[in-house]
Amino acid sequence: MHKALFIDRDGVINKEKNYVYRIEDFEFMDGIFEVLKAFQSNSFRIIVVTNQAGIARGIYSEADFESVTKWMLDEFANQGIEISDVFFDPYHPVHGIGKYKKDSYDRKPRPGMLLKASEKHDIDMESSFLIGDKLSDIEAGSRAGLRHLFLLKSERYPEVEKSDFDYVLIDQLKDVLNFIDKNTDL
Ligand SMILES: [Mg+2]
Repeated sequence: MHKALFIDRDGVINKEKNYVYRIEDFEFMDGIFEVLKAFQSNSFRIIVVTNQAGIARGIYSEADFESVTKWMLDEFANQGIEISDVFFDPYHPVHGIGKYKKDSYDRKPRPGMLLKASEKHDIDMESSFLIGDKLSDIEAGSRAGLRHLFLLKSERYPEVEKSDFDYVLIDQLKDVLNFIDKNTDL
């Protein structure tokens, strides 16, 4: 089995803006390369899990998402960072148009994407980590059996710190590095 870092995209990998689907709007977060390199060198697989309701709403297409994703993966590769997989959910239960109107088990806070990723990559959830910027990320992680859950403080989504799920609130991405060492048993 492998351990993984599950990472949300908008607000964690790239700065949160309204619907990032163009390369020119994609701005990497401070510390993201350093953090992913550190996880990688501690033998974590890096797996992106992202809700993309902009597709459901018809703001951009799956092809748009895929092309910005390809660019993002190339930028990571240039930094020596390998992303093992990218899972995205293009649906929305209310605002989805046509086939994209669906109450999807993959859409966070539901755990579908994480469970699929776990099975596909043979992930040990107990020793894996998740970083998100919304409580829906934390909830999905908790429901998927993750125990190391990190909520990055966000100006845009100032979360109430009260939640049914245990997580660590971090001010900046690299604060998560303080927690890797405890977890090198695999
Ligand atoms: Mg986010």
